[in-house]
Amino acid sequence: MDLSLTPAELEFRDELREWLAANRPGPEPGDTEAAIDHRLAWQRTLFDAGYSGIAWPREHGGRGATQMEQAIFNEEMVRARAPAPANIIGLVMGGPVVITRGSDEQRARFLAPILSGEEIWCQGFSEPNAGSDLAALTTSAVQAEGGWVVNGQKVWTSFAHRARWCMLLAKTGDDQRHRNLTFFILDMKQPGVEVRPLRQATGDSEFNEIFFDNAFVPDENVVGAVGDGWNVGITTLMFERAGLSAASALAIQLKLDDLAALIRDRGLQDDRSLSRRLAALVIATETMRLNGYRGLTRIIEHGVPGPEGSIAKIQWADINQRVGELAMDVLGGAALLADPVWTRWMLRARANSIEGGTSEIQRNILAERVLNLPRMR
Ligand SMILES: Cc1cc2nc3c(=O)[nH]c(=O)nc-3n(C[C@H](O)[C@H](O)[C@H](O)COP(=O)(O)OP(=O)(O)OC[C@H]3O[C@@H](n4cnc5c(N)ncnc54)[C@H](O)[C@@H]3O)c2cc1C
Repeated sequence: MDLSLTPAELEFRDELREWLAANRPGPEPGDTEAAIDHRLAWQRTLFDAGYSGIAWPREHGGRGATQMEQAIFNEEMVRARAPAPANIIGLVMGGPVVITRGSDEQRARFLAPILSGEEIWCQGFSEPNAGSDLAALTTSAVQAEGGWVVNGQKVWTSFAHRARWCMLLAKTGDDQRHRNLTFFILDMKQPGVEVRPLRQATGDSEFNEIFFDNAFVPDENVVGAVGDGWNVGITTLMFERAGLSAASALAIQLKLDDLAALIRDRGLQDDRSLSRRLAALVIATETMRLNGYRGLTRIIEHGVPGPEGSIAKIQWADINQRVGELAMDVLGGAALLADPVWTRWMLRARANSIEGGTSEIQRNILAERVLNLPRMR
């Protein structure tokens, strides 16, 4: 693991820092919808400056950045406290899947509006009875003239209420389990699609239920082969996991600085129990950051993400939740007044050990693939 930057990487970082200093957006609004608009405007600014989808190949509208440049980019965004772009699912999963598994026509149709944020994407995988076990999903797609008719229900679909396209996994045959799934790009703006927002513990509605009642997907929007949706879907999850890196640890470090300031503001700097918990979090976060670099080194050397992604996912969820709990103890009774920053953090962090694959599932992955323990089933 070599953490020093080459002259070219240093030049890339300095140029980006200078650009960020001049273009950094103002603070994000508290309201969810206004925050999405704020992030959309930010994505457009990034796009206009050539910083949207920087790791995408140049021929597909990206910047062809190396893994190291991507890592530098992520860290500089965090350091500048810039928000994530609005179309994060399109940038991190939808686009890469279309690039690696899609047809030339799909690349020509879908990639540019993902980069600019003109068309938001959502991920329709989870269902009421299929989350960790995606192969159990029951939403069906039946062949009709020129395409497929979709019926069923998805749940927890982030940004579905703002999305134009849904990466949909649906059953296309009676064959057993993995072999009967197909990956579709479904148009959300059609009569057979109903989106119902779900209210979270934070009070926000980031995610939704989607109901499909004879919705239609034309043949040209099937990604990969019919029946190969499991493999295409796994590609998206790999990108999702690979995206969690040292930059997430840096974001937590900044949050820990804020938490230390809160402890001082409330005159609690001499409370040894609080200080010990804060110190343990600083150490855990540094471990996570270094593990992120180890994962990055592996991707650079071998081209594929290793188990570090699962370790980072567990660490990220665990640390975020402990940060929220410590903040609640620092605030004491004041936390009951729904402090807008820390109470929200504590509540939102509960979802971190569920979204993107639960901590239990990540532990299974580590048990089976790293420790070579027997498979669960
Ligand atoms: C904020 C948020 C955003 C999300 N956004 C999206 C989205 O945009 N698109 C989308 O498709 N989904 C999304 N999800 C859904 C998410 O992917 C699922 O919630 C997750 O995969 C878990 O599935 P589940 O909720 O069905 O729980 P289940 O799979 O039913 O799990 C219930 C419990 O059992 C445990 N468990 C299950 N199987 C095992 C096992 N084999 N071994 C040990 N323990 C096990 C789990 O860890 C969990 O604790 C989102 C979720 C959240 C919280």
